[in-house]
Amino acid sequence: MDFNHARQTTRKRIEPKDYCDGKCTKCGSTDTYIRTSHVREIPEMGTTVEEVIAEVRAPTFACRACGATFTQEHPHYPPKFEYSLAVVEYALTRFHYHNSSTREIRRDLKVLHGVEVPEGTIDTWIKVHSADFLAAKQAPDPEAVPQAVEYATIDGTFVSTGPDVVGKKKRVDWLSVTPLASGALALTFPAAGRPTRARSRSCHTRKKNST
Ligand SMILES: [Zn+2]
Repeated sequence: MDFNHARQTTRKRIEPKDYCDGKCTKCGSTDTYIRTSHVREIPEMGTTVEEVIAEVRAPTFACRACGATFTQEHPHYPPKFEYSLAVVEYALTRFHYHNSSTREIRRDLKVLHGVEVPEGTIDTWIKVHSADFLAAKQAPDPEAVPQAVEYATIDGTFVSTGPDVVGKKKRVDWLSVTPLASGALALTFPAAGRPTRARSRSCHTRKKNST
């Protein structure tokens, strides 16, 4: 492995067709055209071997139907920002979830990701964007918990260590899945005794051959 290398620069070209639908924001017509455009050069997250610059073509559209002009923005390259969303999110994640200082964040962005950001800029991101960032990251993900669980099958032999069997391990022959108000799924087992055969059949989990 050769650690003695220079960092290469890669330019990532992003065209309007990659992120614009060209639909008029005033009347909804798709009979529009690009009247003018310019290219924004935005530092993107790179690696120790690659510096990445996004070249984002930012168009101004004109509508043939109503005459309006409008722009469309790439969500990963917010307008008026000198850095990509990924770079800002990296800094905020390090600050809020890894207790990193702005000095450490600046150093790692430069050394590990090839992005040079002044410490003062990182400080500003933390001051201005933390509330929105934390609100978004802490919002429950609607996809994370299935809305309705009809059944679940869990393979394996289960050993209860619950209060009914304190001090002695006991084989649990069946478990059931109970959705809690929080959306989490709790695995529960019978408090005592073995389930009847009929109950066994209707339960939602099963054990694998344990013999
Ligand atoms: Zn229009």
